[in-house]
Amino acid sequence: MTPAEQLCLACGLCCDGTLFHHVRLEPGDDAAKLKALGLPVRTSRGATPVTRFRQPCAALCADRSCRLYADRPGQCRSFECGVFQDVRAGRMEAGAALRLVKQARRQADDVRRLLRALGDTDEHHAMNERFRRTKRRLEAGGADPADMDTFAELSLAMHHLSLLTIDKFYTKAGAK
Ligand code: SF4
Ligand code: SF4
Repeated sequence: MTPAEQLCLACGLCCDGTLFHHVRLEPGDDAAKLKALGLPVRTSRGATPVTRFRQPCAALCADRSCRLYADRPGQCRSFECGVFQDVRAGRMEAGAALRLVKQARRQADDVRRLLRALGDTDEHHAMNERFRRTKRRLEAGGADPADMDTFAELSLAMHHLSLLTIDKFYTKAGAK
């Protein structure tokens, strides 16, 4: 296993709802097979239907490996975050990359902790979706001052995580 591949097993941020909220299927992906393997594949209605499944991914294991690695869809095969690309190209030491991954995971855990503290305990949605719905709920009124303090903390944690992921993880071509 290459150092870049080892990094992914310590990470999982592109599968756990931190970086993306869906994985879009491509021509060549077998939607029926992926569905049978346990992925909640759905096709949207409308003029340009999109077939996709949501994150956090149902195939992501507790050890950050992919349960469907051999059958994973095309977007999962082709996506390489900025950190992965830097390690693979020798522009970043594996140790430095691991520290970045650990930092991002710590920050993401912090965001999830604050979301739970504000009553958003449904972990089956991506982080951005959870943040937006929590924001809508609190802005609709009725939140007590302690919750608004926690929300301020959450907004700051989201901001810091976004700065890190935009700087180090997202790539111009990168979308799952
Ligand atoms: S975000 Fe990057 S390092 Fe992390 S699992 Fe995805 S490709 Fe690998
Ligand atoms: S199928 Fe595997 S690689 Fe793709 S998002 Fe799910 S866990 Fe990640």
